[in-house]
Amino acid sequence: MRIAIASGKGGTGKTFVATNLFWLASEMGMECVLADCDAEEPNVAGFLPGDTESVTEVFQQVPVIDPNKCTFCGKCYDYCAYNAILYLPEKRWIQVLPDLCHDCGACSYACEAGAITEKPRLLGKVKRSAYGPRSRLTEGRSEVRVYSAVAVIKKAIHEAGNKKVTILDSPPGISCPFIATVDKADYVVLVSEPTPFGLHDLKLSVSTVQQIGKPFGVVINKAGPGNREMYEWLKEYDIPLLMEIPFDREIARIYSDGGLLSREHTSYREMFRRLLKQILHFQSV
Ligand code: SF4
Ligand code: SF4
Repeated sequence: MRIAIASGKGGTGKTFVATNLFWLASEMGMECVLADCDAEEPNVAGFLPGDTESVTEVFQQVPVIDPNKCTFCGKCYDYCAYNAILYLPEKRWIQVLPDLCHDCGACSYACEAGAITEKPRLLGKVKRSAYGPRSRLTEGRSEVRVYSAVAVIKKAIHEAGNKKVTILDSPPGISCPFIATVDKADYVVLVSEPTPFGLHDLKLSVSTVQQIGKPFGVVINKAGPGNREMYEWLKEYDIPLLMEIPFDREIARIYSDGGLLSREHTSYREMFRRLLKQILHFQSV
């Protein structure tokens, strides 16, 4: 089962939930894998240092137009659905904008003058590590100055393969990197905080997950302070509240030391065990 741990904004505790669930599943002897899909700032390895097995580079094929062969017919520009070609026929100027290019190959197909070749561009790397005898970690890491992490995320999920439990630590927000991750999940856990700002972002992520058609539930982190608005909203829309993590200085201390709460506290271990059971039960019903 693929479980995406996601959130409409950063800093809500996605990695905290993902690493604790993974550690617990691993401790329970399940075959599991955790993919760090937050490729712009992966940090799972800070909590779960594995033994590196392989590193794979992820490339994009970027079209290059030879102005000496180009007839400035504009066909490639018409074929490009991503506005990745700057075409100024009156100035006889044409150029590919690599950051907007989606590596679809349509322009090369369109060009009858043989003016387009492709050159590889490094987008990032995916590291695969072992964690104990039955568990694996994969980490997507984008290169600096690469506009979109989507290709690296897809590769990290692909490298994760399919174990009994596959946990995807999603990037924050609701744009393409989030969708690339959540789209591959069987179940989505949305982590939020009970504040007006948290509720605003939760509404956006719930709406996105509903549009993609994925089953989901909510974990409220730093419960205690804040207000009741989020609880009332979940009740009104019949959205399952899977777990509450209290606002506790000790939790913050363990997390900032790179520790794992379920390893250090048996009561919290039980809480994460119940969460895992709820999610896995969802698959079997
Ligand atoms: S490969 Fe696709 S996205 Fe990139 S420039 Fe060509 S048509 Fe546009
Ligand atoms: S299709 Fe080929 S010849 Fe036509 S504008 Fe594009 S690169 Fe130039």
